[in-house]
Amino acid sequence: MSKIAGEEITRRRFMTGVGKGAVAAAVPASLLKRTSADVVVPEPPGKKLGWAVVGLGSLAINQILPAFAKCEKARVVAFVSGHPDKAHKLALRYGVAAKNIYNYQNYDSIKDNPEVDVIYIVLPNGMHAEYTVRGLQAGKHVLTEKPMANSPADCQQMIDAAHKAGRKLMVAYRCRYEPFNREAIRLARSGELGPVQMILADAGFKIGDPTQWRLNKQLAGGGSLMDIGIYALNASRYLSGEEPSEVNAMIYTTPGDPRFKEVEEHVTFQLRFPSGVLANCSSSYGYFHQSQFRVCGTEGRLQLDPATWYTGLRLWVERDNAIEERQLPNVDHFASEMDHMSGCVLDNKEPLTPGEEGWRDLKIITAIYEAAQQGKTIKL
Ligand code: NDP
Repeated sequence: MSKIAGEEITRRRFMTGVGKGAVAAAVPASLLKRTSADVVVPEPPGKKLGWAVVGLGSLAINQILPAFAKCEKARVVAFVSGHPDKAHKLALRYGVAAKNIYNYQNYDSIKDNPEVDVIYIVLPNGMHAEYTVRGLQAGKHVLTEKPMANSPADCQQMIDAAHKAGRKLMVAYRCRYEPFNREAIRLARSGELGPVQMILADAGFKIGDPTQWRLNKQLAGGGSLMDIGIYALNASRYLSGEEPSEVNAMIYTTPGDPRFKEVEEHVTFQLRFPSGVLANCSSSYGYFHQSQFRVCGTEGRLQLDPATWYTGLRLWVERDNAIEERQLPNVDHFASEMDHMSGCVLDNKEPLTPGEEGWRDLKIITAIYEAAQQGKTIKL
């Protein structure tokens, strides 16, 4: 027998042959102490609200459902789906009761289910308004994915429904609930970069399958601007802390490309803010993925790149001839935003990104399309 094998047998015999007390006696007390201090036993969760997820597609399955495991204040208790097989399979995985699986026809009967406190709308954009209003009318609080809806009028209808029902309405602008974008907001508004002069924001990716709903005007509301350019727009507003007073824009779509029969491919747009800050933004369904925000002050600049990915965000700050990368925790954006929404319901507080926030973006998006079509500056 080799020396190592012999040692292993001896160790195994020792571990199985003696009780815990004997092991403890054989290990120096200082080591035992250190081991137990390293193990942080988490507190039991507080009250978790029950959530229903409406639309079991890519975002729901790959991001939102797994995120519930990291939530302190939210648990998934119901599904709404047009595909019962998929819903039942996911119900087994996430412990959702079969009686809590709804479809789009019997969705309104969710009002009789006291287990459901909050509804998360994860449907194609053009369906957000209808399912948000129906959810609010069922007496539930609603978190809806971005963009809030296809038009400012639809957003207004959703806001009115929330007021009428006395329920919370929040738009899922997940970047507002994670540390990198939050630190960028703090830095940009703190004066540490000197007065902000300009914001540069780009968001886009190369889209594939021409048959997907994102390329269908009725379901998507528009092209790259509605889907991904909204990140650049929203960031320009949250980094500056201001609302734009004017917009300019240009659109280009490759002629004859089967993907772009109904919606636009590339958009560039400029925003003028009342303080004089300008924002130069792009969105695209044609270029290699971009997710970059920059804030340029008189004394320094910051760069978020990638700025909006689910994980792996990076933030650089350049000042005084030095570039420093900020080390911040990577949190689950979806768990963070769902806990925020639950917290607002439990404490009766207004969400950080309420319906009005989604409405403002849709007003500006409408003006961006108008500016591009008319070839002139649109005042807001
Ligand atoms: P998917 O196409 O993957 O899923 C949408 C789901 O909606 C479908 O699986 C289906 O669920 C349901 N649905 C109902 N009617 C239709 C219809 N006519 N056509 C297509 N789907 C339908 O989309 P995503 O999950 O990528 O996007 C959903 C929403 O989430 C969008 O508003 C999008 O903008 C937003 N989103 C947000 C992201 C973020 O980072 N915050 C990232 C990605 C998307 P079922 O089969 O269960 O009925």
